[in-house]
Order: sequence, then C-alpha cells, then structure tokens
Amino acid sequence: MGFFSKFRKKSPWILHYNTGGCNGCDIEILATLAPKYDIERFGALNRGNPKQSDILLVTGPVTMHCKDVLRRLYLEMPEPKVVVAMGACGHGGGVFRHLYNVNDGVDSIIPVDVWIPGCCPRPEALIDGIVEAIAIWEKKSKEKEYPRDFDEHMKKKLGVEDDN
Ligand code: SF4
Repeated sequence: MGFFSKFRKKSPWILHYNTGGCNGCDIEILATLAPKYDIERFGALNRGNPKQSDILLVTGPVTMHCKDVLRRLYLEMPEPKVVVAMGACGHGGGVFRHLYNVNDGVDSIIPVDVWIPGCCPRPEALIDGIVEAIAIWEKKSKEKEYPRDFDEHMKKKLGVEDDN
C-alpha cells in the first residue's frame, strides 16, 4: 500500500452527481447527511471535488446532456474509486426510460460497483449502499497498485478523446 493510500484509508470522500433525475433521491441524500442518520459516522464525507473523491454517488437517469460530464467526473477521480448508482433511474432510466433525451442507466456510461434499488431509496438503503461501497473501496485499495498511465488506459476504454 502506498504512502497516501495508507493515510486516506479510513476517510473515503463522496462525490454526488445528479444526471437528470427528479431530485427525490437527492432529498434522501440530504436527509442521510443530517444528524438523524449521520452518514459521516461511517467515515465518509460528502465533497464536491472529483479529484479528491473516492466514491461517486450517481442519482437520476443518464440524460444526453449529462453523459459526457458523468464520464469526465469519473475519469477525474483518482484510483481506486467506487461508483454507486442510487435509485431506479440509475438502473436503466426508471420512469424516464425511453425518453428522447435519456441515454440509459449509469452502467451504459461508466462501470457501476453498487446498486441501490428503489424510487426513491430510503436513507437506510443509502447507508447500506455506502457501507458496501466503503468495503469495496478498501478492498480495491489493498488489492491493486495502479500504473501511472492508468488514466490513459481508462480514457481509451471509455472512448474519451484527449482535450489537448
Ligand atoms: S429513482 Fe425515483 S426519486 Fe430517484 S431520481 Fe428517479 S424518479 Fe426521482
């Protein structure tokens, strides 16, 4: 395990991104952050910077408008990272499935590690999913050493053109 991996082990940071949902899931996330459910007691903090985040929490169906942003956020996060798809919309569009502006579920754009079913999932289900995501993230942190050109490898895998 590397120097940085060793010291960030107990505090994975969460990046939340809504790809076009109705905000029902987002309200449940806010409830889970509040003192009643207090997700931070599991050592996970909600932050807005992909470059400092370890868990990507996605809500909503992936709309055409948001799919490139979702792919970009995923690529900007350091390895190892875990993706959590929250709600029925992330599983394939949910109630928005087959609309002209909806691409599909989250896994049509990026790989998903944890699925949280429901519309909208209750805070207990979200906590369950985040605890599972932390366990996967810790396992990935121990298992794998990522090569320096891993980001380039992922860009090729996801079909992203270089900005430069
Ligand atoms: S799963 Fe349900 S609550 Fe969540 S964004 Fe989709 S429609 Fe809204």
